[in-house]
Amino acid sequence: MTDRKPQKTNLRAIVVGGGMGGLAAANALIQKGLDVTVYEQAPELGEVGAGIFIYPNSLRQMHRMGFEDALAKVGARVGAGSMYRRMDGSEVGPIVMADSSGWNGFYGMHRADILEAFAAALPPGTVKCGHRATGFSQDANSATVTFENGHSDTADLIVAADGLRSVLQPFATEPSEPEYSGFRAYRGLVERSKLDSWYDETHQVWMGDGKHFMVFPVRRGELLNYVGFVPMDIATVESWSAEGDRDELAADFACWDPMIGKLLDKVDHCFWWGLNDRRPLKSWSNGRLTLLGDAAHPMLPHLGQGVNQAIEDGVALSMLLEGRSSADVPQLLQTYERLRKPRTDMVQTEARKNGMRYDSLYDSIEQRDHEIRNIAGLRLSLYDYDVEKEVKEAMAEMA
Ligand SMILES: Cc1cc2nc3c(=O)[nH]c(=O)nc-3n(C[C@H](O)[C@H](O)[C@H](O)COP(=O)(O)OP(=O)(O)OC[C@H]3O[C@@H](n4cnc5c(N)ncnc54)[C@H](O)[C@@H]3O)c2cc1C
Repeated sequence: MTDRKPQKTNLRAIVVGGGMGGLAAANALIQKGLDVTVYEQAPELGEVGAGIFIYPNSLRQMHRMGFEDALAKVGARVGAGSMYRRMDGSEVGPIVMADSSGWNGFYGMHRADILEAFAAALPPGTVKCGHRATGFSQDANSATVTFENGHSDTADLIVAADGLRSVLQPFATEPSEPEYSGFRAYRGLVERSKLDSWYDETHQVWMGDGKHFMVFPVRRGELLNYVGFVPMDIATVESWSAEGDRDELAADFACWDPMIGKLLDKVDHCFWWGLNDRRPLKSWSNGRLTLLGDAAHPMLPHLGQGVNQAIEDGVALSMLLEGRSSADVPQLLQTYERLRKPRTDMVQTEARKNGMRYDSLYDSIEQRDHEIRNIAGLRLSLYDYDVEKEVKEAMAEMA
């Protein structure tokens, strides 16, 4: 989709996992001239109804990859008027909705829309569904992944984009366990037309009382994506399709801003998701195997950066591999990790901290409000980051 011809390479990559991280990486690698096969465990690609926030740090990369028109057709612009609020609806302060250059590069997206855009851009036959990876081996010249169905495939490198509970992760680094946050997220979509009025084209976050609630538009503003974060002692599964109890959700936010009640009145059913992350891993790469997206850096959603960081990963990896030979792969995967890990370690840590602000786990609400009003600096450092520029600089230093 880019105008420039990629430098010639004979590299073949296997991407395990056809989620947003895996499909974004597959596009980036193909654009840099690699031959790519994606293996996905599910019988077909799909994302259920939920929203995802896309920020300038990944949108500028997707624009460069040629997805500007595809995303503009399905994204919902989100901008001025976005607000942090106390639980009663009173304003704490505006949410920054531009990067430092003033660019409003934000979209509320339906997860299915962005996945479809990534899948449609891949050459036919790139994605092979119904393949659950179970094993990995390698020698000096190649790496092999084996699947539950008996199939196996060999390539110059394997990218494990198989999510929070990555099967391939233990082959890449020291074992670590996902950590349950003690919170459950209820989420779903409401048709905008069902509400007389709303804070259109904005992101709204209500914080307080050990919980928080947020709403942003998706699919050209036709749908509102809501998420309610509530404490839950027992560890719960993470799944986009576990049916939640709408009445429980409404009861959790019953004494909050009436705007939340007005929206929840229009909700028939919702889904829930147990929130897990991991502490930053010791390393990501082993020889010809590396990790990407949630397999590398699962984070709590309190900065909305999981997919955004996965997209940055794919861009970095593809730039490093362009025009290179198979013998270079292990070293280049180390370089990828060295470039990416400090940033994603930071985002994982900051996402935990921001959850504490949103859930008001503070002795003083004034301190919480003070920190929230001063969070623009962190947000700008996330949005201004240009992974393409960082990788170019690192490559120039290495040359
Ligand atoms: C409530 C909530 C809200 C969020 N909001 C945002 C947001 O606004 N913005 C944002 O950027 N991020 C957000 N996130 C985070 C985001 O959803 C994740 O970071 C992102 O989905 C990770 O993508 P991934 O491709 O790495 O992993 P996944 O989406 O988990 O995809 C992994 C894929 O690998 C497949 N797979 C797994 N195991 C195997 C195997 N053994 N063999 C083959 N295939 C396998 C799976 O079926 C799946 O398709 C949110 C998360 C939650 C829970």
